[in-house]
Amino acid sequence: MAKVLSMILAGGEGSRLYPLTQSRTKPSVPFGGSYRLVDCVLNNFVNSSLLRIYVLTQFKSQSLNEHLNKAWALNSITDTFIDAIPAQMRTGKHWYSGTADAIYQNLQFIASDEADLVCIFGSDHIYKMDIRQKIAYHQEKEAVLTVSAIRLPKEQAYHFGIIEVDAEGRMIGFEEKPSVADAKTIPGDPDHVLASMGNYVFDSQALQAELIRDAADANSSHDFGKDIIPQLYPQGKVFVYDFTTNTIDGEVGETYWRDVGTIESYWEANMDLVKAEPAISLYNRKWPMHTHYPALPPASFRDSEQFICTIRQSLISDGCHISGATIKKSVLGSNCFVGTNTNIYESVLLGDTKVGSNCILTKVIVDKDVKIADNIQIGVNLEEDRKRFTVSDEGIVVIPKGARIGF
Ligand code: ATP
Repeated sequence: MAKVLSMILAGGEGSRLYPLTQSRTKPSVPFGGSYRLVDCVLNNFVNSSLLRIYVLTQFKSQSLNEHLNKAWALNSITDTFIDAIPAQMRTGKHWYSGTADAIYQNLQFIASDEADLVCIFGSDHIYKMDIRQKIAYHQEKEAVLTVSAIRLPKEQAYHFGIIEVDAEGRMIGFEEKPSVADAKTIPGDPDHVLASMGNYVFDSQALQAELIRDAADANSSHDFGKDIIPQLYPQGKVFVYDFTTNTIDGEVGETYWRDVGTIESYWEANMDLVKAEPAISLYNRKWPMHTHYPALPPASFRDSEQFICTIRQSLISDGCHISGATIKKSVLGSNCFVGTNTNIYESVLLGDTKVGSNCILTKVIVDKDVKIADNIQIGVNLEEDRKRFTVSDEGIVVIPKGARIGF
């Protein structure tokens, strides 16, 4: 069995998720009621029994550090760890200038580790992957680098690295975020492209050599997608792992994958969890979704004198107290209080929030620690909302952390 070291990229600015990233880094943004975004990738590693993990942090990392300490501390007598590494300007007076530079600045941890393989994974994607299967594929192909890929509609090509592959699974083309018109579609399937999922298995020696070469290249932006993959694939040893072949507990099927880089995709990923038949399940006991579990009472739902409490297709976390309200297709994080005759629809409340009585919230993301007074409507009149809040192009209203509305 190869020795594996894993590095989680958690040092991006997350500007497209603003204002959810106003006070915290993107991997620390709450998700799915009980989780933080970083939990997804960490669960993939832990459930794959790969327990030697560095999390590379940089921007606004305090909340992520606290979460890692509370949820992911390994008390172990074996060679296992989940450790945060802050940006430390080890190679000069500059922060990480790209994803490859983030790894390069921490090359000493790889060089001194004697790992055969290095996994480099982003932390802003929602999916389940048994990473051992990807590693087995990498070894079978004797690859220098293996990139995971998923089929996506052609219209989404401009968000992703788009891959061309030969019959053996070898990468023969790659373009980072091409225009939809330029994106190479899958042979025989003109409506779909093969997109990189932003996670890589590298041969350790090859990775180190490539990062040293890239660091000396003044024209490089030091990014895996823009610089490292285009440099390596023409050498013929970069292979593409087809995510749809991955199995969880012996079953193909849970090959849901979503990038949550924007307000729209973050909202959609939460909505995916409350579909009648979600494509990703949080309830598979054989693939537990670990996180920090605060000591909280169970969620409670009470009818008021006049109003029956109605909850449909929603996730409601511990510590919530809902009285005489209607909640549909929504995700509520812990400690949310919702008053009587309030309607919450297709919304995501991140937690520690109080919504008064007679309110309407439609397609709203409410960050933590928000208080909304009685009789407030949000998401109903977007022109009005735009004067006070961030409203995405698609009409999703975001209420920033700590806001007081109507007081
Ligand atoms: P945005 O583009 O909205 O500012 P971002 O800076 O996080 O977001 P992405 O391309 O979405 O950029 O990042 C993909 C993954 O790589 C994320 O997990 C992110 O934390 C990480 N990442 C991005 N840039 C860096 C960097 N310079 N150093 C370390 N990790 C990074």
